[in-house]
Amino acid sequence: MQINERQLELVNGRIKALLASGSFYGKKLQEAGITEVHSSEDFEKLPFSEKADLRDAYPLGLMTAPEEEIVRIHSSSGTTGKPVIIPYTRKDVEDWAIMFARCYETAGITNKDRIHITPGYGLWTAGIGFQAGCERLGAMAIPMGPGNTDKQLEMMENLGSTVLCSTSSYALLLAEEIAKRGMKDRIHLKKGVIGSERWSAKMRERISTELGIELYDIYGLTEIYGPGIGINCEHNTGMHYWDDYIYLEIIDPVTGKTVPDGEQGEIVITTLVKEGAPLIRYRTHDLSRIIPGTCPCGRSYPRIDVIAGRTDDMMKIKGVNVFPAQIEEILAAFPEISSEYQIRISHLEGKDTMRIYVESTGDVDFNDLARRIAEKVKSKIGFTPIVKVVEIGVLPRSMKKTARVIDERYQ
Ligand code: ZN
Repeated sequence: MQINERQLELVNGRIKALLASGSFYGKKLQEAGITEVHSSEDFEKLPFSEKADLRDAYPLGLMTAPEEEIVRIHSSSGTTGKPVIIPYTRKDVEDWAIMFARCYETAGITNKDRIHITPGYGLWTAGIGFQAGCERLGAMAIPMGPGNTDKQLEMMENLGSTVLCSTSSYALLLAEEIAKRGMKDRIHLKKGVIGSERWSAKMRERISTELGIELYDIYGLTEIYGPGIGINCEHNTGMHYWDDYIYLEIIDPVTGKTVPDGEQGEIVITTLVKEGAPLIRYRTHDLSRIIPGTCPCGRSYPRIDVIAGRTDDMMKIKGVNVFPAQIEEILAAFPEISSEYQIRISHLEGKDTMRIYVESTGDVDFNDLARRIAEKVKSKIGFTPIVKVVEIGVLPRSMKKTARVIDERYQ
């Protein structure tokens, strides 16, 4: 997906604004001697920006528009260190609402819908983004925020909420409560708009079936407006993203080079019209791929696949880049194994080795199952792991995904 003339023109507008403001990123561009770009080759030479850079600009070093034009800030926090503060102008706030309303429309939501918003309000971009998009669309916002399941269900029933906005884990919790209380007939939900954290196909299936709703993945991050920069349509062939507001690239997270459409890599985003805090080539560390071709819905907005994980999860085995999500996807296709697994990577006789431990019940042939899983990994990813099948309950239970992957090479 090469950058086009119009997008280059917009990027030059942002470079000019950054240089003129002397903001944190403006200074970086100045030091790199960049004044404008004329081709995709020029563009690909622009330096990346990282969350760490944004953090260094704390508190307001990213502010690129004059202070009197800033109407709001949002903040994202990492697990460590200072938060990132993103200033927004009135136009940024409006642009975000326009994009978000477009997301709702793409999901077939109209001004007759009643939108039940459970993400949090405050410094985060979540709740308020869902709200602004809803109002822009003309639908009825029910601004619940998170928590208090009793109240959520009471309002959902009495107000006849038709759309649920939430994280996948909260949607699952609500689905289970509704089933437990035998309330399904009194709930009018038709669709769910779910934040783009990585969630398994099994979980999606459960939420969709238990609530009897269609699910839509919405994408976005605080540094780039917030949620609402992309969503899947009714054909569910990946998420359309709004290329009149952002330019999206997929790069090899190791070399930093852009990869061909269709290949998986890291999402890098450039904001094309943002005023408060424009970002050039921002590394999101989210993994996805551009889906080539056009969607059956006929929309010309390009598409990315659902988020496959984070670059921080990447493992390199025998020269092949592997992500836990890829292994998880393969394992999910084997109904005879439980949802628990463990991956161990070690250096054995000069070679990288991956061992995969899975659980199954006593009525399957463990050796045969192990062989079939190893063959599947070989054909899908390109190397042969050592697979060991154990009895159900043997593997340690953990809430954290990371604990399922143990790299013994660096211990
Ligand atoms: Zn479509």
